[in-house]
Amino acid sequence: MNSKGRIFSGMRPTADRPHLGNMLGALSNWVKLQDEYECYFSVVDWHAMTTAYEDPSQIRNNIRQMTIDWISAGIDPQKSPVFVQSQVKEHAELHLLLSMLTPLGWLERCPTYKDQMKQLQNKDISTYGFLGYPVLMAADILLYRSTIVPVGEDQLPHIELCREIGRRFNYLYGEVFPIPKEILSKTPMLPGVDGRKMSKSYGNYIPMSASEEEIREKVKTMVTDPDRIKKTDPGHPDVCTVYAFKKIFDPENVAEVEAACKAGEIGCVACKKKMAQTLVDSLAHVREKRVELEKDLHLVDDILEEGAKRARKTAQETMQQVRDAIGLL
Ligand code: SF4
Repeated sequence: MNSKGRIFSGMRPTADRPHLGNMLGALSNWVKLQDEYECYFSVVDWHAMTTAYEDPSQIRNNIRQMTIDWISAGIDPQKSPVFVQSQVKEHAELHLLLSMLTPLGWLERCPTYKDQMKQLQNKDISTYGFLGYPVLMAADILLYRSTIVPVGEDQLPHIELCREIGRRFNYLYGEVFPIPKEILSKTPMLPGVDGRKMSKSYGNYIPMSASEEEIREKVKTMVTDPDRIKKTDPGHPDVCTVYAFKKIFDPENVAEVEAACKAGEIGCVACKKKMAQTLVDSLAHVREKRVELEKDLHLVDDILEEGAKRARKTAQETMQQVRDAIGLL
């Protein structure tokens, strides 16, 4: 076991295929963390149910696809259990018990709750389950007696709520849960092909598993310095999307491109071609791994089954402590 601490982290199995922005964000953080911490990575399908309860038909397929995405991106199921939340029923038991002691006001005040209620007006999410979403999240984290939670800034209120719930449990029944600390994920800002933040809703993204052709087509459409008409015009790489990609995917050659661009010695078409090739090469292993896993879905199912077994062992130990502390059978 790694000595730096224990981490639980999960993602909802939505139909959205991850894009390069996602890959550089949460996923590449997970890949680094798995070498430093004891990690539990879960496809949190019950969380997906909080908003997809009316049509859960895609969840099962999304679970497999998400597992393939994670492993293609470098998550190693030998190092860290990769499993489906609903396959470890202890999540539900702890969620139920924590619901008993969580004051309603804590949930109603949660800023993400109010925000989501506004944003998802096309869905009826004024449900008991959706209000209790942060309690389920707290149960996920506390079930593994996690000491660390990797989060983006938008999730900080949930983590604070998780700590409050853990403290309240410990105060009422005795110390069972470590109170987890967050580590903020540092995500390099990757623009979409139009220069805005890479996002599904803007349609400006490059999928993580994009084919070679798709990558080349997407790079062709990237916005560059609008003031550059001729190849010999001095360029401003700082306003160019290709350059932003270069800094992240080809840092060794950034200085050279910057100098050539500013001196008007390289054309945008040639610069894009090189960038496309760099992306094709650096994503080759992701594509190859995905193709391999898609051919062997039994392997994906085996990974999830084995992951659930390992996760269940820790979860059952925690639940025994929880029942003992409360005085339940
Ligand atoms: Fe961007 Fe390269 Fe064109 Fe300069 S030469 S504006 S860095 S694409």
